[in-house]
Amino acid sequence: MTEKKKAPGSLSRREFLKAGAAGACAFCLAGAFGCAPPEQPDEPAPTEPVDPNNETVPPPVTAEKGFVSPVLAGWFSELEESRVRCELCPRQCQMAEGERGPCRVRKNREGKLYTLAYGNPALVQEDPVERKPFFHVLPGSRALSISTAGCNLDCKFCEVWDMALVAPEEVYAYDMPPEKVVAHARDSGVRAISYAFGEPVIFHEYMTEVAALAKEAGLLNLLHTAGYIRPEPLRELSGHLDAVNVDLKSFDEEFYREVVGGELGPVLETLQRLGEAGVHIEVTNIVIPTLNDDMETIGEMCRWIAGELGAGIPVHFARFYPLYKLSGLPRTPVSTLDQARDTALQAGLRYAYVARVPGHEGENTFCPGCKELVINRMGFVIEEVHLKDSACRYCGTVIPGRWD
Ligand code: SF4
Repeated sequence: MTEKKKAPGSLSRREFLKAGAAGACAFCLAGAFGCAPPEQPDEPAPTEPVDPNNETVPPPVTAEKGFVSPVLAGWFSELEESRVRCELCPRQCQMAEGERGPCRVRKNREGKLYTLAYGNPALVQEDPVERKPFFHVLPGSRALSISTAGCNLDCKFCEVWDMALVAPEEVYAYDMPPEKVVAHARDSGVRAISYAFGEPVIFHEYMTEVAALAKEAGLLNLLHTAGYIRPEPLRELSGHLDAVNVDLKSFDEEFYREVVGGELGPVLETLQRLGEAGVHIEVTNIVIPTLNDDMETIGEMCRWIAGELGAGIPVHFARFYPLYKLSGLPRTPVSTLDQARDTALQAGLRYAYVARVPGHEGENTFCPGCKELVINRMGFVIEEVHLKDSACRYCGTVIPGRWD
């Protein structure tokens, strides 16, 4: 049951990613709500500094255009007249024979649901763990990222639209079953596998199997997601996860409906369930001028995080750069990111970061006890770490995270 089309060529999407989609992953926002015209010239996102001494091992196979290998999906119900209902994400799509979900990777074939995103990552690359983005996980280490085509949301400023907002047949992909991914990670000498850059929820079956094998092999499993997943598949996955960064795109229902194409509630429930499961959580909020930069709402979001998940949850306020359907908006002023960070600290959060502004003081980790600098960052490069046994070396305050 394999559909293959071969074509030569390189991965333009990878070039795009390496060229400067700095930091966070698949995520997006949009020009709804009547956007203001740009107040400053557009500038491309900077390529953040990376350690030049790190070398990556290329994937063991060559990418092929349109490589798809359908596999029976989990999380669906068979309905009357050969219809199916997908139960992976809150959209719970019903599909007639031959139809595909809006995520582009789940299809009704003869009354059963198949995933077209199993074992065919469109992205296989090593990066610093800070790029995933995790600031409280193995600082300075590297992780192997994988991602497939497809996404179950419809953000209007997707940073990887040419991978996430297309079908698997439209991209170059690698034939990499789970054991091959884990073997490649071990050969590469990375400490972790990261499910990132696209939306990993939609390749749930593949991710879960890779994660189980990775755990057996002594690797950490890191997930960066929009968190749009139903409770049961999340529960199955979370037992394998060590750390999750959830893109909380706003704390505003209308923003989620109009800009993201989803609902806020299920994302908050995902965060709560991950917290209950004891997974290390970080949160990313891309701050977009005029759309989600209202400090009152950001304060409300931070108080919710502190109250529901804990004051020790690291929150990254990431700079927005004009792209995709939001190319008419300006990049986020640094002063807005500073304000967001201050708002988070005032709300009681202990680790609020400014992201995608290399060299900004807000990239660093300060001990909430003695206020000393404990991790000094320059973009993705770690310059100093002053931790001892997961605690501040100066005063002994425990810093939450996965440090070894
Ligand atoms: S994963 Fe895809 S098919 Fe399934 S409910 Fe979500 S959008 Fe629909």
